Amino acid sequence: MKIINGEGILNPFIAIVGEAPGAEEEIAGRPFVGRSGQLINSIMSELGIDRSQTYITNAVKFRPENNRTPTDVEISDWRSLLIEELYLVKPKIVITLGTVALKALKPSLDFKITKIRGQLITEYPYLVMPTFHPSYCLRNPNETDKLKEDFKKVLEYANR
Ligand code: URA
Repeated sequence: MKIINGEGILNPFIAIVGEAPGAEEEIAGRPFVGRSGQLINSIMSELGIDRSQTYITNAVKFRPENNRTPTDVEISDWRSLLIEELYLVKPKIVITLGTVALKALKPSLDFKITKIRGQLITEYPYLVMPTFHPSYCLRNPNETDKLKEDFKKVLEYANR
């Protein structure tokens, strides 16, 4: 099993949490370098967010075989590392991409990602902005505007 750690700066305005690395991330040894990462990069650069000024990681840090969704047990096994990681990194806002990332951070929350996305969760120690996973938007391109909208809301919050 190859572990793909998060990357980025300490005390960023934004930390991004994905699901688990894919095949390209496993090869590169870095998170979000494949198609999903490219979509996130292009949304961020459109909005003037410099990826090198963020922190980006995954809820589960190895690639599940055949890119399957991590199980609830895997999410829970990796949760304490994610919580510790974010505690050390100290972002102001965490953007969770997709259901797995939000489940990892808020295990007791009962939600549907289509309903909860775009609504800032204001709970200590950082705010959480749930949004869609970019791979969902790659499969459903007409949803990409919502992903963009949610990143934009985070920026607007930053500039308040
Ligand atoms: N999808 C994820 O959730 N994480 C990655 O690092 C790449 C694709």
